[in-house]
Amino acid sequence: MYNNQQYDVLIIGGGPAGTATALTLLRHQPELKVMIVETGNYQQQRVGESLPPLALDALRTLGVAESFLQQNHLPTYGTCAAWGSDELYANEFIFQLNNRGWHLDRCRFDAFLAEEAQDKGATLLCNSKVLNYDKQAEGYDLNIQYQNQPISLKARFLVDASGRNAWLAKREKVAKIRYDKLVGFCRFYYIGEDMPEDTYTLVEAWENGWWYSARLPNRQLIVAAMTDADLAGRYQLNTDKGWQQLLTRSTHTRSRLHTVTTIDQQQAWPAASQRLIRTIGIRWLAVGDAAATLDPLSSQGITNALRTGIFGAYAILDFFKGKSGSLEKYDRWMRESYEDYLETKAQFYSEEQRWPQHAFWKKRQTGIEFESYQNMKLWKSESP
Ligand SMILES: Cc1cc2nc3c(=O)[nH]c(=O)nc-3n(C[C@H](O)[C@H](O)[C@H](O)COP(=O)(O)OP(=O)(O)OC[C@H]3O[C@@H](n4cnc5c(N)ncnc54)[C@H](O)[C@@H]3O)c2cc1C
Repeated sequence: MYNNQQYDVLIIGGGPAGTATALTLLRHQPELKVMIVETGNYQQQRVGESLPPLALDALRTLGVAESFLQQNHLPTYGTCAAWGSDELYANEFIFQLNNRGWHLDRCRFDAFLAEEAQDKGATLLCNSKVLNYDKQAEGYDLNIQYQNQPISLKARFLVDASGRNAWLAKREKVAKIRYDKLVGFCRFYYIGEDMPEDTYTLVEAWENGWWYSARLPNRQLIVAAMTDADLAGRYQLNTDKGWQQLLTRSTHTRSRLHTVTTIDQQQAWPAASQRLIRTIGIRWLAVGDAAATLDPLSSQGITNALRTGIFGAYAILDFFKGKSGSLEKYDRWMRESYEDYLETKAQFYSEEQRWPQHAFWKKRQTGIEFESYQNMKLWKSESP
């Protein structure tokens, strides 16, 4: 059915960045032929669940805000943090535009965006992957494994939306700058009936990292111990015993877990801040985590994926119209936004001064980490 077809844009990865790119392209030019190639099928566990109020603006721009609001994700009204002191302080969304955020059922959210993109005319191939591609003067020839079947097709433009491993940028040999070694050890729990109905995201710093926990739809709770990959072994965070020991030393996170049952074993998720040194190439660009990742402390990763998908699509539309410098403009905007992000990140981490001698905080507060990683080349192992 798809064999030997010609597409205008082929998007590698059907997460929020990829689907936002497709939605924007088709909103502005419904006649475009857009394909999304996705390795999964939206059934696999995903992390990244807090959507801040401002994300609604991006969803409005995509034309999906109203249907998103009917999806029954869990509304949340702010964050509580023990950061810089043992005391919890609340950061309410009440004074922000849109005044509430959401804790997402992440698989359902990603699948919802993918369905919206299909409704607008995108072709979605799940359980599929690009095997290889050849660059031609007017685009790309691609071989794709579509479920179990090989197909060949052509595309005028490629988008790397494959998440932090940046499948295409890696093959295009674009270097990556990594700014830290953050990793999240995440567990999902079922919440007991008597658990208070609070939907705050809870953040609690500890001597070599920080906890976060967030209640999810369907009476679930995600709990994550964030630390650096090279410090995790010290706490044996990949073992049940290590996890429990660290948890016992927490104050607020532990008390949130008194009537929960574990759903599954924990998984470690790379969470380092990193960016490509350039987010564009000949007839391709990168969006979302593939282009640049944000510290989960910011809760901005999904919003950033949506926004870069929107701006990436604008750049492609301009490119198709023959506007010179459209891709370069996108790349410049990406770089400048990331500089702003790094400043904000440094400011947040400098607000926690209780453990200045501990490696996790020392690296972030003295800039040592940036120095040692700024020239690090791409494609060393991502796993902790
Ligand atoms: C521990 C942790 C907690 C986080 N918490 C939050 C949070 O609370 N709020 C928030 O906003 N963000 C959070 N984030 C970040 C957020 O999850 C990401 O920024 C966001 O998912 C990026 O979206 P994306 O579409 O760019 O990439 P992804 O969501 O990673 O999507 C990439 C897609 O591409 C597919 N894919 C990968 N490789 C290929 C390939 N070769 N071919 C085809 N398809 C491919 C994948 O299956 C996936 O569907 C967190 C991240 C971590 C690690």
